[in-house]
Amino acid sequence: MNDQHTLREEIVAQARRLTITGLSQGTSGNLSARHADGFLITPSGMPYEALTPADIVQVDLLGRYAHRLRPSSEWRFHRDIYAARPDAAAVVHAHPPYATALAMCRRSIPAAHYMIAVGGGDSIRCADYHTYGTQELSDAVLQALDGRLACLMANHGMLAVGNSLAQAMWRAVEVETLARQYALALQIGTPALLTDGEVTQVLQKFATYGLMSPKPDA
Ligand code: 13P
Ligand code: ZN
Repeated sequence: MNDQHTLREEIVAQARRLTITGLSQGTSGNLSARHADGFLITPSGMPYEALTPADIVQVDLLGRYAHRLRPSSEWRFHRDIYAARPDAAAVVHAHPPYATALAMCRRSIPAAHYMIAVGGGDSIRCADYHTYGTQELSDAVLQALDGRLACLMANHGMLAVGNSLAQAMWRAVEVETLARQYALALQIGTPALLTDGEVTQVLQKFATYGLMSPKPDA
């Protein structure tokens, strides 16, 4: 079995996990993995339960593909992330309830919990709203991701980058957990924020924390 086939199988398995973890439902969200001179991405508008490895679309960095199915409508931000970020091996985009609820209020997640470090900085920014599938949305996402590994997307959802598909999925689940905790804390009172120094310490520790270290492989 070649590398490409293994990667296709992994994309299908992780795509199914989007539904199992409650990160997305129906056909919302999409995921991709860097491959050859481009990337492999889920097709547009196909329910994850129906997905097979042969349905995954290979797209090059110019957005060209030769497949009976169309690539995800969000192929532009997947492409632009791979082009701009050599550290990115995989991208997961989803519409999970809490991260999306904060994004509907156009709020970023601040450093109210040390796990903010999963996003690679002291906040998880919310990208400006633009219509799904547009270059404008991709530009806004790239801006919100500057120096970061995850962002929210106004009135839409969230995305996470990883040095593997498993890491991108792990990060997406962590961002949703953080969003849920922050939303709950906002109902109780005013969440206290960590200082820059406190966040820096956690970011340094995270560089060597576990297999899912947020620091991408060199
Ligand atoms: P696709 O089915 O085209 O990937 O679109 C889902 C989505 O989440 C758009 O933002
Ligand atoms: Zn979406």
